[in-house]
Amino acid sequence: MCFRPAEISMNKCPACGAVCKPNATECPACGAEMSIVMIDNEAQQARFAAEANAPKAPAAPAAPSPK
Ligand SMILES: [Zn+2]
Repeated sequence: MCFRPAEISMNKCPACGAVCKPNATECPACGAEMSIVMIDNEAQQARFAAEANAPKAPAAPAAPSPK
């Protein structure tokens, strides 16, 4: 149940959340500028990287020790 990659490849309107074509410059639903999505995408990637850097489960070891 992880259809996130499919959503990333699509252009989603940051205003109403309508899925538009990746080459769409304006949202056909509300008319918002889709160029904002590009900036939002970078911010999301930065946030994702920061989360990946920070440990979330101290009880479970991330890297198994080789014998
Ligand atoms: Zn919209």
